[in-house]
Amino acid sequence: MPLQNHRLEPQEYERNFTDIHPPFELLDTAFIEANRCLYCYDAPCTKSCPTSIDVPQFIKQISTGNIKGSAETIFSANIMGGGCAKVCPVEKLCEGACVYNLMHEKPIPIAKLQRFSTERAIAAQWKLFERKPSNGKRVAVIGAGPAGLACAHALSLEGVNVTIFEKEAKGGGLMTYGVAAYKVTDEFCQEEVDWITSIGGIEIRYNTEIGKDMSFEDLQSEHDAVFIGIGVGVARHLGIPGEDLDGVVDAIKFIYDIRTKDYADVSVGDKVVVIGMGMTAIDAATQSKRLGAKEVVMVYRRDEGEKSCTDAELDIAKLDGCSFVWLANPKEVLGANGKATALVCDNVRLSDTPDASGKRAIIPTGETVTIEADMIIRAAGQTPFEEFIQHSALTNNSGKVNTNRQQATNLKGVFAGGDCVNGGKEVVDAVQHGKDAALGILEYLKPSHKE
Ligand SMILES: Cc1cc2nc3c(=O)[nH]c(=O)nc-3n(C[C@H](O)[C@H](O)[C@H](O)COP(=O)(O)OP(=O)(O)OC[C@H]3O[C@@H](n4cnc5c(N)ncnc54)[C@H](O)[C@@H]3O)c2cc1C
Ligand code: SF4
Repeated sequence: MPLQNHRLEPQEYERNFTDIHPPFELLDTAFIEANRCLYCYDAPCTKSCPTSIDVPQFIKQISTGNIKGSAETIFSANIMGGGCAKVCPVEKLCEGACVYNLMHEKPIPIAKLQRFSTERAIAAQWKLFERKPSNGKRVAVIGAGPAGLACAHALSLEGVNVTIFEKEAKGGGLMTYGVAAYKVTDEFCQEEVDWITSIGGIEIRYNTEIGKDMSFEDLQSEHDAVFIGIGVGVARHLGIPGEDLDGVVDAIKFIYDIRTKDYADVSVGDKVVVIGMGMTAIDAATQSKRLGAKEVVMVYRRDEGEKSCTDAELDIAKLDGCSFVWLANPKEVLGANGKATALVCDNVRLSDTPDASGKRAIIPTGETVTIEADMIIRAAGQTPFEEFIQHSALTNNSGKVNTNRQQATNLKGVFAGGDCVNGGKEVVDAVQHGKDAALGILEYLKPSHKE
C-alpha cells in the first residue's frame, strides 16, 4: 500500500503542530521567575551559552521592568536570541547549568524569559542597533541560515555592505526548513529574518544557488570577502541492502516537506521506523505521529545513556506515543513488490571500555530483531551536499569545511561557519560561528591586515 496523506481532520493537524513551549500566560509569572534568579557571580548559565549571553544581567533587567534593556543585552550577544529562546536544547546548555539544579529545584526558565523580552522587542520593532556609515566594503554570504544571518548582521553593524545568496525562497535555513514546526512557526522565522535585516545594509538574493546560478569564483572576484554558511545536506546513507526500496526516506527531505507543504499533503506510513536518536530523528518521529502514523518505533544502535538528543526531547517522543528499540544496528530492509515491509537489525551490546575516540564499541550478539514498517526514515547523521565544497581545497576528510579560530578557511578572504564546519550542532553554535567569522572578516578587511 502506498504511503498515505490526509490522515487527520484539519483541526487535528492544527492542534498537533501548535507551539509546545507557549510564552508566560501572565506577566506576573515572568517577574516572579526573574526574581528567583540568584545572580551567581560566576554565571554558569552564561558560560554554558555558546553565544555567552549575559543571562543574570538580562534577567535582572526584566525583574526591574527594563524589558528594552534586557532585549538589548540578549540581542547584542545573539541576534537570533528570539529563535534560540524557542529551539535551544536548554537542558544541556544554560538551564542545565543553573545552580538550582544542584539544590534539586526547578532551574530558572531562562529560555522562556529570553522569549518574553525578545518577542516584545520584535513585535514593537524597537531600534536597538545603529549601523555605522557604509565603509564601501562588500562581503558575500552564502546561505541565509543562522550562521549566515549572524555574520551578515555583525558585519553590517560595522558598515560593511552584505549580500546574502540563498538557494531557497525564504531565509532562516533549517530554522525555517528543518526544526519541528511545533517549536518555531513559519511566521516567526520570517519575522526573525526581517528583524535581523532591518538594520539595513543587508540584501538577500533568494532562489540563488551558488555553484549553479552563480559560480563560487565569480562571487569571490566580485566581493572583498566571502562567508560560507551552507549547512549540511541530506541524511547519511546506511549502506545496507534494501535501502533503495520505496518507503525508505531521508529525514531532512521528509521534514522539509512538512515545513513547505500543507500537513495533509505530506505522506506518512502506518508503521514508521526512524533510525537514529538525535534531534533530527526525534523531530521525524514526533512529526510522523502528529501527521497520523499509527505506530512509530525509534531504533538506535547504542543505549539510552549514549543518545545524542536531550532527555526533554526524548520525553516529547514518549509523550507522543513513540516506542524505542535500543542496541539495534540496522542490517537490512526487507520488501515486497518494491516496497519496504520491515527493518532487520542486529542486536548488539556495547564494550565495557571506550575506544580511542571515546566511544564504546558496538558488538553484535548474534541475534536479530525484525520490525515491521511501511516507512523507514533515515536520520542517523547528515552528509555534506555542496559540490563546490567537496571538490575544493576547503574540506577535510569528513567533508566539513576546515577553518581556524577566526573561522578563516585556507582560501584567501574566504570564511565559513555553522553546520558546514562543525558537522551539525545547534542554532546557537551556528550563530556564534557567524559572529566569530564577522570579527575575522573585519580584521581581514583592515588596510593594515597582513597575510
Ligand atoms: C530536523 C532538524 C531539527 C533540528 N532541531 C534543532 C533544534 O530544535 N534546536 C537547535 O538549536 N538546532 C536544531 N537543529 C540544528 C540547527 O537547525 C542547525 O544547527 C542550524 O540551522 C545550522 O545553521 P547554519 O546556518 O549552519 O545552516 P542551515 O540552517 O542549514 O542554513 C544553511 C543555508 O544555506 C543555504 N544554502 C546551502 N547551499 C547553498 C548554496 N549553494 N547557495 C545558496 N544557499 C545555499 C540553505 O538553503 C540554508 O538556507 C535541527 C536540525 C535539523 C536537521
Ligand atoms: S541562547 Fe540558548 S543557550 Fe544561550 S542563554 Fe539563550 S536559551 Fe540559553
